[in-house]
Amino acid sequence: MTASGTSAGDRRVSDLSQQAIDDLRSGLRGDLLEPDDDGYDEARTVWNGMIDRHPALVVQCTGTADVVAAVEFARETGSEVSIHGGGHNVSGSAVADGGLMIDLSPMNGVHVDPEAGTVRAGGGALLGDVDHETQLFGLAAPLGVVSETGIAGLTLNGGYGHLSREYGLAADNLREVDIVTADGQVRTASEDRHADLFWAVRGGGGNFGVVTSLEYDLHEVGPEVSQLFVWYHADEAADRLAAFREWTESAPRTAAVLPFLAHVPAEEPFPEASWGEPALAFFGCVRGDPAAFEETVGPLTAGDPIVDLSERTRFEALQALLDEDYPDGLRYYWKSLYLTELTDEVVDVMVRYNDSAPSDLSTVDLWWLGGQVADVPQDATAFWHRDKPFMLNFEANWEDPDRDDDNVQWVREGFAAAEELAVSGGRYGNFPGFAGDPAHLLFGENYDRLVEVKTEYDPENLFRLNQNIAPRGTD
Ligand SMILES: Cc1cc2nc3c(=O)[nH]c(=O)nc-3n(C[C@H](O)[C@H](O)[C@H](O)COP(=O)(O)OP(=O)(O)OC[C@H]3O[C@@H](n4cnc5c(N)ncnc54)[C@H](O)[C@@H]3O)c2cc1C
Repeated sequence: MTASGTSAGDRRVSDLSQQAIDDLRSGLRGDLLEPDDDGYDEARTVWNGMIDRHPALVVQCTGTADVVAAVEFARETGSEVSIHGGGHNVSGSAVADGGLMIDLSPMNGVHVDPEAGTVRAGGGALLGDVDHETQLFGLAAPLGVVSETGIAGLTLNGGYGHLSREYGLAADNLREVDIVTADGQVRTASEDRHADLFWAVRGGGGNFGVVTSLEYDLHEVGPEVSQLFVWYHADEAADRLAAFREWTESAPRTAAVLPFLAHVPAEEPFPEASWGEPALAFFGCVRGDPAAFEETVGPLTAGDPIVDLSERTRFEALQALLDEDYPDGLRYYWKSLYLTELTDEVVDVMVRYNDSAPSDLSTVDLWWLGGQVADVPQDATAFWHRDKPFMLNFEANWEDPDRDDDNVQWVREGFAAAEELAVSGGRYGNFPGFAGDPAHLLFGENYDRLVEVKTEYDPENLFRLNQNIAPRGTD
């Protein structure tokens, strides 16, 4: 069921001599793991339990020098490379059967410069690592909404979160990255240095090299914010989402709301009578004057809720609130498409597919985008779909491996129904299913320029386990 990232003719690391492997090991500070080594299984295991792949080698990099050694080894031996940032991409592209996995997990250090208003974090850092340090100063970088996600994968593909409508994508807040390109060179890419590469990494994914550190602009956030979390019976979904649609037309950028269709969790504090019922939830983060919260979100809480879990909370706690819903090792298949409008037909698809979900853990999510994301011109960075105000994401989350086909099929059918609507189109690299969609669906009219940058920095397509942009001459 899982997609193989290995194309015919790739040289497997397992074909290499033990001498070559030992030479690589002797040049590293971090560990080089082979299949019989302690820690190998832990290292190859990513968040999505659907992914069960066996790399021939795992390089656990402790610094940029290890990354350079791994990249040079891969290039010289023709080995297939995968890059593990936080290991949370649903497609499992962080790990490949028979390949060399560049594991950045040990490189998760975070340094905040409160006076400059910046943070620099390692390419293996998670959102929670960054939030924890920046919130010490009442600051935050715009990242995602679950603290265990890797910052690198999230940012390189764009990165939406609670702060996006006011401050833009995670990628928009990058000041610079350090990146090891396919030739083994360590480059700093920013507006002033390797500007073409900097343009490409802000939305072009892991195509251009191994990003060893990322520096972001910070903003004043929290430490307390207002959490919106209100649940309704699904039979109110059409009315509540119509109210939401109207509300978005004048809502402030300091309010971020992510509606989703789900089933009521069978646990406190949800009333027992509602457990397992189809439901609509509004989840969000509202900043600014706490006294204005109710007035700001009024139309979203005006129905007859099953439960309203809205409260004042720490931003860092809000960022971690959903962590327990996405445990390591559960089975996941997620796929998204953009919407130019939230129509009644979209709502109908959401409600219908929520009702037919094979797993009560699954959700149909409606990301509300726009704001500052849309203020940036579409060709200013590689990230193309800035003009889209909404994104629909079908999230299958389930436990039983015997139900893999049912759950994947459910996403594909819901997705196909949404794709038929006139308001749908385009893909997001961070919720990519098995990452099989053609790259132009992600990159739109930026695609040709991305091919040029790819051809310059990775002409042999060493970094191809991603939403791949093929360099010229290799199609
Ligand atoms: C629970 C959960 C919540 C999420 N919430 C959000 C959200 O709020 N907003 C949002 O936009 N997305 C969200 N996502 C999607 C998330 O952004 C992507 O899954 C992202 O790819 C994860 O990054 P990672 O570093 O963990 O990926 P990994 O699985 O480690 O890597 C995926 C790919 O990213 C590239 N990559 C990773 N690290 C590097 C690096 N250092 N250098 C170069 N390339 C690299 C490689 O191509 C790699 O194959 C969420 C995902 C999960 C699982």
